[in-house]
Amino acid sequence: MVNINELTELCGKFNYKFRTDCPLSEYTTFRFGGNCRILIEVRGTAPTEIIQYIKRNNIKYAVIGKGSNIIASDDGFDGVVIHFGNDYADITVDGTAITAKSGAMLSAVCRKALESGLTGMENLFGIPGTIGGALYMNAGAYGSEMKDIVISAEYINENGDIATISAENMDLSYRHSIFTEKDYIITSVTMQLHKGDKNSIKSAMDECIQKRVDKQPLEYASAGSTFKRPKGNFASKLIEQCGLKGLSVGDAEVSTKHSGFVINKGNATCADVLELCEKVKNIVKEKTGYILELEPVILK
Ligand SMILES: Cc1cc2nc3c(=O)[nH]c(=O)nc-3n(C[C@H](O)[C@H](O)[C@H](O)COP(=O)(O)OP(=O)(O)OC[C@H]3O[C@@H](n4cnc5c(N)ncnc54)[C@H](O)[C@@H]3O)c2cc1C
Repeated sequence: MVNINELTELCGKFNYKFRTDCPLSEYTTFRFGGNCRILIEVRGTAPTEIIQYIKRNNIKYAVIGKGSNIIASDDGFDGVVIHFGNDYADITVDGTAITAKSGAMLSAVCRKALESGLTGMENLFGIPGTIGGALYMNAGAYGSEMKDIVISAEYINENGDIATISAENMDLSYRHSIFTEKDYIITSVTMQLHKGDKNSIKSAMDECIQKRVDKQPLEYASAGSTFKRPKGNFASKLIEQCGLKGLSVGDAEVSTKHSGFVINKGNATCADVLELCEKVKNIVKEKTGYILELEPVILK
């Protein structure tokens, strides 16, 4: 049972922002979802005491960053959502290594790398998530992924204590990390980059953004690629091959610009998106034999 007074008091101690009955549509890039019971925005210090309190009291909880890979239930989330965002986003550079607190946007980390003349993460520029979410998902683009640069991370372990983990132990693979399997909350990520030429770094970053603008339906709300890449093929290619561009349920639509994206044309609900995804999966399986799997995480 959530004791709102006790949690409010604990959040007050750390100056964390605390909201009750908070619409998840405001915290996810898909822009739908019901309310969560409580939302806590972390500020300054890692929320170890909050997590310890939550665990001691068996309270249901979830962690979100930018919410750019989340499908939030229309029924909301009957528990506490811990949000890492702008108020937990310090980025520091030490030689050729960069450490970012989990709420730092991946693109802000890329910009810091550019400013410091460090190369290695240009291809990740434009992925619209936090560094915590990027490590959790082992986010990647254009042949690069978090796995290539991360060397260690700090996290809150199952007991609510701070611990560190090195990259070798993170079990990083395509859209997978140890964090997807264990009850760990990432609080900071350290990446190893290399000295590079600022002009070349900048043009590589500009090129990435241009590719996104040209190919992705960025004018609509979405969670990016809706399906994982099946072994030996591409979800977008299969979807297009099956003639599913433009297929819709309510305001959820398979983008006509990029068939790998399901977009929210205005008032899509979680139910619309999930129904559309089921249709796409069934047709693709029937016509090609490939089994598509959702990439975004369902928050319910
Ligand atoms: C237009 C668009 C384009 C995209 N392009 C790409 C792309 O090119 N490549 C790609 O890989 N992804 C892409 N994505 C998906 C998404 O941006 C990435 O997966 C991103 O890394 C998610 O970060 P986030 O902060 O938004 O995480 P969220 O969506 O908030 O969370 C995703 C998961 O990570 C967990 N999580 C988040 N923060 C933490 C933390 N601190 N500790 C523990 N768990 C945490 C959440 O619990 C959830 O399970 C795109 C999305 C959009 C909308």
